[in-house]
Parts: sequence; structure tokens; C-alpha cells
Amino acid sequence: MPRDHHFLIGGVKFLWRYTRLRGKAHGWTYHGEKVLIEERLQKRAKLCTEIHEFLHAANPNMSEEAVVNQSEDLSKILWALGYRQQSSEH
Ligand SMILES: [Zn+2]
Repeated sequence: MPRDHHFLIGGVKFLWRYTRLRGKAHGWTYHGEKVLIEERLQKRAKLCTEIHEFLHAANPNMSEEAVVNQSEDLSKILWALGYRQQSSEH
């Protein structure tokens, strides 16, 4: 199962990687370079983290509070609308 992807975010090519992260963080964004997502996340927590890190990557100056609020709101909406990941996908 692929753990690495490459995505354009705001016209910049990012490595998007699922991996084991140290500490409490669920994700990290290194601006202009890469996004790391904790590989043990599942379900809405995973979706929320993916949106959260995308928002950081796309909006380097957005506050952490705004990123948290928007990723929570959007992941709740998408989850309520029935968006789910197939279990074998990353
Ligand atoms: Zn953040």
C-alpha cells in the first residue's frame, strides 16, 4: 500500500507521507516541501488531520486556531455527508 504521494498544493509540489510520528502531533507540514501524517490515525481523526495539514500547506500564514477550526468544521461536514476511505487505501 503506497505511503508516499506527491500533490500540488498552491502550485507547489509536496511529498505527502504516512509515517509513524514521535510525540503527540498527528501531522506536520514543512512549508514548500512535505506533509507528514501519523499512519495510525483512522476514520474522522485521519480526515481531520489531512485537511488540517493541507490548510497549513496551502496557507502558510493562517493561524493555528483558524486551521483547527476549519479542519474540524470541514471534516465534520464531509463525515456527515458520508465520505469514507476504503480500508485498504491511504
Ligand atoms: Zn496545526
